[in-house]
Amino acid sequence: MHRQATIFAVSSGHGRAGVAVIRLSGPVAGLVLDRLAAPRPKPRYAAFRRLKHPDTAEILDHALVLWFPGPASETGEDMAELQVHGGRAVVQGVIGALASLEDCRLAEPGEFARRAFENGKLDLTGVEGLADLIDAETAAQRRQALRQAEGALYRLYEAWRQGLVGAMALTEAGIDFSDEPDVASDALHEARRQIEPIAEAIAAHLDDDHRGELVRDGFQVVLAGAPNVGKSSLLNALARRDVAIVSDEPGTTRDVLEVKLELAGLAVVVSDTAGIRVAAGKVEEEGIRRALERMRAADLVLWLLDVTDPTAPPPPADLGVRADRLLIVHNKADLRYGRALPAPTADAVTISAFKGFGLETLIERLAAIAAARAGDQEAPALTQARHRQQLLRCRAALSSFLSGPSEAAELRAEDLRRAAQALGRLVGAIAVEDVLAQVFGRFCIGK
Ligand code: GDP
Repeated sequence: MHRQATIFAVSSGHGRAGVAVIRLSGPVAGLVLDRLAAPRPKPRYAAFRRLKHPDTAEILDHALVLWFPGPASETGEDMAELQVHGGRAVVQGVIGALASLEDCRLAEPGEFARRAFENGKLDLTGVEGLADLIDAETAAQRRQALRQAEGALYRLYEAWRQGLVGAMALTEAGIDFSDEPDVASDALHEARRQIEPIAEAIAAHLDDDHRGELVRDGFQVVLAGAPNVGKSSLLNALARRDVAIVSDEPGTTRDVLEVKLELAGLAVVVSDTAGIRVAAGKVEEEGIRRALERMRAADLVLWLLDVTDPTAPPPPADLGVRADRLLIVHNKADLRYGRALPAPTADAVTISAFKGFGLETLIERLAAIAAARAGDQEAPALTQARHRQQLLRCRAALSSFLSGPSEAAELRAEDLRRAAQALGRLVGAIAVEDVLAQVFGRFCIGK
């Protein structure tokens, strides 16, 4: 049988740094410590050691060394951690020494997390939470990801799954008594009584206005309106502010097309539809179609109007954007030369993208709308499309179970099986390789 390799990687960031953390996981992690950093430290206590090359005995560095025997380790395997000086030559020297050892190899991206998953240390939603935690840029993202990494979603989904498994056993017992109709119908009745609250909880969890996804992916704001009303000027004005987190998305080198802001602890992504506004003919229609799609998918559309141009079109009635997802922005207020400006209302603000006038009010308004939409941050929220897809399948199967003809007991049992399977895929109890590849592929090397 092929022996499980011991993997190692630099788990801290790359490039020159004060300290670099090199982690090892696998059956020979302890022996590696014995060869490089003897004597092996007491489990879970940091010890100061001279790291020696196992062949040449050359001293590679002075390091802090930790030993985490499995299964009480992050991956469930024997693990070791070397905190070395973060210079390039030091890190390369230690990595080279590790690579020269038998049964040791460099880890693939996400391989530590994958081993933790395979050893039952983390379910799939926990792994996704960990990936989100590494990517978190705002306080709300951090809180949500940390909760998920700690198993908040797992506990919720697994409790539902256990409930379904219990009801499935009842339903199947009923089938065994199908020659005693009363017993069979009582069993199904009881199973339905147990499923009802679970189905309601799943429906409520799904019907959350996407607040978890909003926190995770950012509140999406799209700028729209006629050409020349000042959409790109507004985007650039936002990008120049201190609150802009990053704007290093592809395609933003010349004209900024997307700005990420942190407002009220939330990520708010403002993007311009200008990038898809093309000159003439069919291409333009295509551009408009895509702009419309973006507006309809947005959490909020800012529709810009030019105060100097009364002919600038208001949002068309057939825009297909809900009224509460539309905010009118009167722009170029600096050009009114003392004449009355449109008064701010619940669904309109007045600004000058040029002079920065009204920008603060607009930003405060965005923060308030995003915070209201993100809602209660305490209850665990659905955080991504993959989860939503499985929960929708689960809900559909449960509603068939609750309302399908009770005489067809086999079909009802099959409903429950499908519902439980959807939750099994969600937490990774039923693992599908391409889902796993996608989830673990998100990690960099060393995680
Ligand atoms: P877009 O086509 O909607 O993206 O509009 P632009 O941002 O390219 O702006 C169109 C024109 O209006 C440019 O010449 C801008 O300089 C000008 N403009 C935009 N915002 C303001 C503003 O607040 N005040 C003034 N005076 N001019 C503005």
